[in-house]
Amino acid sequence: MSEQTCYENYPLRIVALSNLLNFSIWIIGAYLLLGFGILFSILFLVYCIVMEFRVLTRSCVNCYYYGKICFSGRGKVCSLLFKKGKSGNFVTDKVTWKDILPDFMVSIFPIIGGIVLLIISFSWLIVLLLVILVLLTTAGNSVIRGSFACKNCKQREIGCPAQKLFETSKMENHETSLEKN
Ligand code: SF4
Repeated sequence: MSEQTCYENYPLRIVALSNLLNFSIWIIGAYLLLGFGILFSILFLVYCIVMEFRVLTRSCVNCYYYGKICFSGRGKVCSLLFKKGKSGNFVTDKVTWKDILPDFMVSIFPIIGGIVLLIISFSWLIVLLLVILVLLTTAGNSVIRGSFACKNCKQREIGCPAQKLFETSKMENHETSLEKN
């Protein structure tokens, strides 16, 4: 059985990996939307930055990792930009799929854009970028969260509504597939 360690400060290689994933999604997304003109790419990147600020002000200010190095490095960045919130709020805040939908739109917007571009004018490059984007969003995020971020997170031990939401939906999916079999 693998030993589970909660980090006080995450190793920098995990921070680098997590940011590599995020920025790759942003860059591929911006490149795909460039097919509609530079304005779409710029608006998309502005949206990504707004979403980052949303996480910092809604979650990171109340997180155990405020001022520390969390898996994404946001805990440190947050302490440089915003005042510390109340750690109790992190645990009591309710998180639903509706709350995290805006974050998913960072991947969904360029995926929709890429599909539209394919319909207008087929290109293997767009197909390849779409496949990479979908893989990074699904498998990539799941590996980062499951094997590095949530797995070693002190806030998970204290209480994390987002993690609970993911766990509940994983269990529901598992039960549904058992019922089908
Ligand atoms: S458990 Fe996962 S989602 Fe929750 S604070 Fe930790 S890293 Fe973030």
